[in-house]
Amino acid sequence: MGFLDKIKEYRRMLSQVERNIYGEKQDYLEIYERNLQLEKEIEARTNELNVANKRMLTLQHIWDMMNSSTPLENVLEKVVNSIHGELGYLHCAIIRKLHDENGDYMQIVTQSKDSAIARVNKIIGIPIEVRRLTYDPDSIYADTIKNRKIVQTKDLGGTLKYIMPDLPNEVAQAAVTNQPCKSLIIIPLCPMNKEFGWFCVFTSRDELADAETDFLSLFAQQIEMSITITDLFLAIKQQAVTDSLTGLYNRRYFEESLKREVTRAQRQNQPFSIIGIDLDFLKKINDEYGHAYGDLAIKTVADVLKNNARSIDLPARMGGEEFNVLLPGIDSKGAMAAAERIRKAIENQELDLIGHITASIGVATFLEHSDNIEELLELTDQAMYQSKRNGRNQVTLAKPICETSWQEIAVNTFVDILSKLPIPKDVADKLEEKLQYSENKTEISKETLFNVADILTSTYNPMHSQGVMKSKVLMATSLAKRFDLPKKDIDNLRIAMLLYDIGNLMLPYELLQKTTPLTEEEKQHIKEHPMIAAQEILKPISYIQDVIPIIEHHHENWDGTGYPQKLSHEDIPLTSQIILIVDAYFALIEHRPYRAKLTPQEALEVIKQDSGKKWNNALVQEFVTLTELDLA
Ligand code: GH3
Ligand code: MG
Repeated sequence: MGFLDKIKEYRRMLSQVERNIYGEKQDYLEIYERNLQLEKEIEARTNELNVANKRMLTLQHIWDMMNSSTPLENVLEKVVNSIHGELGYLHCAIIRKLHDENGDYMQIVTQSKDSAIARVNKIIGIPIEVRRLTYDPDSIYADTIKNRKIVQTKDLGGTLKYIMPDLPNEVAQAAVTNQPCKSLIIIPLCPMNKEFGWFCVFTSRDELADAETDFLSLFAQQIEMSITITDLFLAIKQQAVTDSLTGLYNRRYFEESLKREVTRAQRQNQPFSIIGIDLDFLKKINDEYGHAYGDLAIKTVADVLKNNARSIDLPARMGGEEFNVLLPGIDSKGAMAAAERIRKAIENQELDLIGHITASIGVATFLEHSDNIEELLELTDQAMYQSKRNGRNQVTLAKPICETSWQEIAVNTFVDILSKLPIPKDVADKLEEKLQYSENKTEISKETLFNVADILTSTYNPMHSQGVMKSKVLMATSLAKRFDLPKKDIDNLRIAMLLYDIGNLMLPYELLQKTTPLTEEEKQHIKEHPMIAAQEILKPISYIQDVIPIIEHHHENWDGTGYPQKLSHEDIPLTSQIILIVDAYFALIEHRPYRAKLTPQEALEVIKQDSGKKWNNALVQEFVTLTELDLA
């Protein structure tokens, strides 16, 4: 090969190398370009992901709130703030479609607080959120809600004029010019297909991408769901506080409100009153016309209460045919007037078939009669019962608790018992008549009371002789005084003394009449009577609850061998021990089919034998001293 040929060969090889290098460079360039492209795409996708993530989080946040019992206003406020702040819309608002006697209108429920709205408010003068906005049935708002369709509009001035037609054109224009907002998206809110209102979003973009529209729809659905859940929640709450027959508030709600009222009354040193209403003779209405008519009578009273209540009064059905009205800020004078209006209004109703109905009413006032809720309710009840006893269809004002004498409580208890227990009708009628207050006497005499107790006792104890009840009560009282018991305890003891064997009314008649010694089984049966008395007969009578434990334990022995609970020593109420010893003494000095009657001295001897066993020594000592004084 010649020199030139060699050169040619080298050249060829060189251009080959050059070509190779150039080719690779092209490759590198392409790869570089492609990488750059990819990086950009990754960035864009990351941004999209971030937005999606934020949207998800916002939705999730709202979802969480909906699951708690957050009030609707708070949920909606959160919605507009998050869509404005986190998702970058310029301004958001939720507007309600409302209706009143002047027709349909619109009102901002909540909106994001931002510079955009601050500027608009400044221009239009009265802030948009406090305005009653016009609902124009030909407006874009009406269209969206009728067609259930999202719309986007760039005519911001026009949308403002629809809801504020009185706004001068130049003011409306000024409000929307030079704003970063380019368009408004209006999304109808129709939870459960009801026209609730609109979700409005302002954006700086002219057009929305489909994905964004989809997202806003999803968001609106979430808002609709919050509204539905809150409505359901409210409905359930409403059901739980109202009574289904009458629609009045129920006992639970009344009692809760009463507690709140006490706090308020104490803070503001304001009175409040309670009116207690009980329908007269409902049982008779039920019996004569059927339960449906009984219900009608109850509903009629409820309607009267609703129609006579001020907006702040709270009428409630406490149960059966018992109603209460709470009157905030009203003293006893005002409450008596209100109660009389209610009484008259009830009396004036004319019911299908039944004709006229009446109710007995009691009134008590906080602080005037008591500063304690239970006591106040109790006094209302007592006043209402007084109205019943005085002949029904009337109003009675409560007496402060200290003025209610033990005799009065005892009389009320007897009347209650007589109406409920299986007492021969002629006896019950006779006794009830004795217990009626006569016109010129404010208080029933003790003699009448003892007399009634004697007659009642004779119905279950044929051995009982007239006049004994008086002696027993006097003896128990003297004994209690020797122990310096407080007046309240002594009063309760007196009432207990009149009633301690009332449980016998529930025992079979044959058992009570039996003159031969009792079998073990029968004895056991008779042992149950104090419990029966306390629990079945007296428990429902709310105002003698302090008397019940005294009666319940009047067969407990000092050494723990008694019944029903085998209490011993100081665990036994002293008043119960007093009943036990007085009862034993009077039984001993009376004739029994299975033994002759003892003389007082003999009876005392028997009692002394059980000192430290059945009764405590101190009690026996006082008892003996007292009786001997009496005998002397
Ligand atoms: P008084 O004038 O002494 O209040 O006599 P009364 O018959 O209204 O009172 P009582 O307490 O003796 O009887 C109440 C009756 O009310 C007994 C009960 O069956 C009936 N009652 C209670 N709740 C309802 C109710 O929701 N509907 C109906 N129809 N009767 C009811
Ligand atoms: Mg009644």
